[in-house]
Amino acid sequence: MCEECPKVEPTLLGRRQMLGFASFLVGGAALGLSSGRALADECAPFLEEAQSAATSDQAIQMLVDGNARFFAGASLHCDLLGEVKATAEKQTPFACVLACIDSRSAPELVFDQQVGDIFVARVAGNVPTAEILGSFEYATKVAGAKAIVVLGHNHCGAVKGAVDKADVGANLTTLLNEIEPAVVATPLEGERSSKNHHFVEAVAETNVRLAVAAMTEKSAVLKELVDAGAVKVVGALYDIETGKVTFLS
Ligand SMILES: [Zn+2]
Repeated sequence: MCEECPKVEPTLLGRRQMLGFASFLVGGAALGLSSGRALADECAPFLEEAQSAATSDQAIQMLVDGNARFFAGASLHCDLLGEVKATAEKQTPFACVLACIDSRSAPELVFDQQVGDIFVARVAGNVPTAEILGSFEYATKVAGAKAIVVLGHNHCGAVKGAVDKADVGANLTTLLNEIEPAVVATPLEGERSSKNHHFVEAVAETNVRLAVAAMTEKSAVLKELVDAGAVKVVGALYDIETGKVTFLS
């Protein structure tokens, strides 16, 4: 998987500047281009031309850069209503994010993205249900997004519930069963309990990795796009204590 790993160092390049460098990522290493970030560029609505020019690596890099801004307390403050008007006729987002419903892990916020930038699907435990796979098939194949990020997080209540085999109600049990494969696949050291913090966080990471694999194992459409190099799927973990996203290798 590591050959497919995204470059995770923030570049702090403006999105227009970045898209001007078609071969920005060379051999997986970022060129040592200087910052020169222009806020006006970052706030520019992400329209069809920009989407057509963007590569999967650049799409992921824009999320890396967005989290770097968020983590640094330097999130953008764009003209959102202006972006509403600019994207009203057509949306051309550059990426999709599957995240947990956790109130602290909102993708648009933690990746510092604006109106029309990313498709977001959220469900407790960020599990790739058939409905979410179908949504991302649309987002990529039809609407042109170049990357899919599965974003898990620490202290996840859904993961804890799956670890504890919580029995709250039929629907929630059905959902937690979707996380059970990650529980089973994670080496258990100590007790199987949500009090075992190390185990809970290890399951959260396994759960993300299984969701990444499921995108191409359970969707022929996504597999075709990934095999063709048109889309990349990557996993990441959000730290609710610090605001930092770490991309998995
Ligand atoms: Zn969660």
